[in-house]
Amino acid sequence: MQLIDTLNRPLRDLRISVTDRCNFRCVYCMPKEIFGPDHQFLRRDQILTFEEIERLARIFVAHGVRKIRLTGGEPLVRRDLHLLISMLSVIPDLDLTLTTNGALLAKQARALKGAGLKRVTVSLDSLDDEIFKAMNDVDFAVENVLEGMDAAARVGLGPIKVNMVVKRGLNESSILPMARFFREKGYILRFIEYMDVGHSNGWRMDDVVPAAEIIKMIHAEMPLEPLDQNYKGEVAERWCYKDGSGEIGVVASVTQAFCSTCNRARISAEGKLYTCLFAIKGHDFRDLMRGGATDDEISQEVAQVWGKRGDRYSELRSENTISLPKVEMSYIGG
Ligand code: SAM
Ligand code: SF4
Ligand code: SF4
Repeated sequence: MQLIDTLNRPLRDLRISVTDRCNFRCVYCMPKEIFGPDHQFLRRDQILTFEEIERLARIFVAHGVRKIRLTGGEPLVRRDLHLLISMLSVIPDLDLTLTTNGALLAKQARALKGAGLKRVTVSLDSLDDEIFKAMNDVDFAVENVLEGMDAAARVGLGPIKVNMVVKRGLNESSILPMARFFREKGYILRFIEYMDVGHSNGWRMDDVVPAAEIIKMIHAEMPLEPLDQNYKGEVAERWCYKDGSGEIGVVASVTQAFCSTCNRARISAEGKLYTCLFAIKGHDFRDLMRGGATDDEISQEVAQVWGKRGDRYSELRSENTISLPKVEMSYIGG
């Protein structure tokens, strides 16, 4: 049964965080000062088992979800992730994908593909080692991420999509080199406006490089034209190179809010359902499952939560919303 929220938006897209841990400390997501050695991550018994994730996934698919993206933290640090992929990839009518920082992708690409994963999105913020290392803050080299992408492409996890978060004063100089490089490679590069998720990254509006500025910069060197959406509710605005040499996307969540078509829900690693990236409160499905709820009861709870949904944070964003309580990106998943 297709669910509709109070703003007439269906539930189509589910992002499941499989861990709150990560092997990077990206300054815009898990800054070291907060996610240091003393940070308390979720214990193993607090996070959903693969069986619990599969159960929820099937219930959401029965409610109209057609796309599931596994995320985190870093999904590939969750042990035996390929086993979860093999459980989810057999669900009919479902587009299953994964967002990763790429660090462990070269090692795991074959197992992921073998388990039934169709494609991956890999995050990379610069081709310049100095800039990239300043952003991931764990001294991780660009080369290793590129190897991960190539391994994924070789085993057929393409077309590879690349996510680049752009932060003013940090990696603007990487926009053109990234565009040139991935156009050549045939990977789809998507520029993401830096967002005020969580509280730890010290976000300021001045740090955002508007998508329109990014498009203008690329267009001046490599002429672009807009493309139609692939489907309603698509997050990235698509552009193609006029000479036919590929496409790019921009995710303008700050400067051109797309809440009116937002059909996404998120489940945290410990099984809380969030109906907005900027939500304050999640709805606990882990305790419901562990308390013996039937599929029907869980299904009704999903319907209730979605039926009451009225989130549109990005449309309401202002200086006053920045300090509102929110959950961290590494917890809720991107
Ligand atoms: N660890 C994986 C990765 O980095 O791809 C998956 C989780 S990460 C939270 C998902 C996506 O969110 C990444 O592409 C990341 O760059 C993006 N992201 C994290 N913090 C962000 C922020 N403050 N604004 C915009 N995008 C952000
Ligand atoms: Fe880790 Fe991804 Fe967050 Fe970077 S963006 S710290 S890789 S979860
Ligand atoms: Fe969807 Fe919330 Fe983002 Fe708006 S702010 S697009 S409702 S996740």
